Amino acid sequence: MLKLEDSYRHKGQRKELVKIIKKKGIKDETVLHAINTLPRHFFFDTALDSHAYEDKAFPIGEGQTISQPYTVAFQTELLNIKPGDKVLEIGTGSGYQGSILHLLGAEVHTIEYQKKLFDRTKKFLSKLGIDLHFYFGDGSQGLPTQAPFDKILVTAGAPIVPNSLLKQLKVGGILVIPVGDRNTQKMLRLTKKTATKIIKEEYDNFAFVPLLGAEGWR
Ligand code: SAM
Repeated sequence: MLKLEDSYRHKGQRKELVKIIKKKGIKDETVLHAINTLPRHFFFDTALDSHAYEDKAFPIGEGQTISQPYTVAFQTELLNIKPGDKVLEIGTGSGYQGSILHLLGAEVHTIEYQKKLFDRTKKFLSKLGIDLHFYFGDGSQGLPTQAPFDKILVTAGAPIVPNSLLKQLKVGGILVIPVGDRNTQKMLRLTKKTATKIIKEEYDNFAFVPLLGAEGWR
């Protein structure tokens, strides 16, 4: 059973976590506020609850992880979310990252490839009253039925930038995606300036679980 209870102890730990990620370079106050607001321990099994405010990735079952808070903040900052943005998140996982995007005012469409995780997270977030749009399937090909998107966020490590994702981005839109080998990936931000012109910016290395599927790892 998950313990759906915030407490002074957890709030204090969350404040400390925010200080840590700020020191590591996160500047966007709206992102820091969202991390400070959302109880990360809700997304943990009670057995691991005491680790919820460490700046680390943790197992969430099915061989998957909840991303490190710094990574969540870093990717969110790169996306420059504006209220009302239509966002596609690839890799729902625990639902924590999607909930942060939701708190920032985005309309979040999130897709997960692992059925058990999809079922569990959809049920859990609905219970919490966090209103995301959930899809089960291969997000390496995006979500053509809901495209185009203002922003696309990939939360698993990709071997290449999937063409489908660039196609499903609006002009002026941003795609944030870690690309590399199975162990390490470089964080990329791709901005679609016109239908054919893409600006690519490269950031630090990260270590994500692999993006599987037709335009991911096979
Ligand atoms: N965003 C998540 C969170 O907040 O907990 C963390 C995501 S975890 C690092 C990566 C997730 O991507 C896993 O849940 C994995 O099953 C999922 N995944 C991998 N390949 C996928 C694909 N092709 N389509 C959708 N999800 C995929």
